[in-house]
Amino acid sequence: MTAINNKNLKLAMQKEGRLTEETLEFLRKSGLEFESYNQRLFSTCRNFPLEILYVRDDDIPDYVASGTVDLGILGQNILSEERPKVKKLLNLRFGFCTLFIAVPKESQINNLSDLNGKTIATTYPNSTQNFLLKNKVEAKIVTISGSVEITPALGVADAISDLLSTGSTLALNDLRPLTKVYDSEAILIANEESVASKNKMMLLNNLLTRFKGVLSAKNYKYILMSAPEEKLTKIKKMLPSLIFPTLATISKNGFTTLQTVIKEDVLWDITGKLKAAGISQIFVLPIEKIIS
Ligand code: AMP
Repeated sequence: MTAINNKNLKLAMQKEGRLTEETLEFLRKSGLEFESYNQRLFSTCRNFPLEILYVRDDDIPDYVASGTVDLGILGQNILSEERPKVKKLLNLRFGFCTLFIAVPKESQINNLSDLNGKTIATTYPNSTQNFLLKNKVEAKIVTISGSVEITPALGVADAISDLLSTGSTLALNDLRPLTKVYDSEAILIANEESVASKNKMMLLNNLLTRFKGVLSAKNYKYILMSAPEEKLTKIKKMLPSLIFPTLATISKNGFTTLQTVIKEDVLWDITGKLKAAGISQIFVLPIEKIIS
């Protein structure tokens, strides 16, 4: 195996877990070329001076704070829990989840103040304690390293505080949500000295432009449609061209081709109106990057 090049930027990501696949996909979409992580401790990018290190996600804050690596991709939840001295650079729009306090379905606990004097099991003791303090609730926190959802059934706790991306884990364990502690998603963090270093910032800015390009493109679609000429003005007005003017090209047999870039959410809002105005087909194309 080749050695790590210490002149390169270093980025730590989760070796194996919920964020792994989407992190790799995100890095590849950013135009970075590297071998798949399988069984590897690190990869060297072929087309950018970057080393990717595969580690346990709990270790990422320490690696970044200590300068072992310059950058890390991890859940905001870990940052909120551990509060390391690092700089948060970007929200990455994947790995969405929520830290919830939940109780057994039949529990008498129905609001936050009912948690006073009760026991809450969690892998996020600091986040949970801060939330309780803010809400003036005094409860006992039991720190558990996994399978928190079974602790009420075992009689270990009256409530749990755990991460969820869907409600299915709660339902499976006969639990119901009581309150949200916070929302989380994958984020990019950096070592504070790395962002203060001129040399590293040149590389980092290049990387950030790539990452931001992928993030902006995610919400937008390129659309093409054939519009009847007599309705052209009306149809153009329906297209809220946010970042790219609507182009009208090629007129044939009373139809003009329109192309534009719009937010996908907006597209679903105006599809009905476009159809009513005589558009029979809308071609929706993904955008790889928007570089600005
Ligand atoms: P894991 O692979 O279970 O260690 O989870 C890694 C990260 O994925 C967590 O720190 C969260 O940021 C995120 N995540 C997304 N959905 C969930 C979920 N349902 N449960 C736990 N973590 C989640």
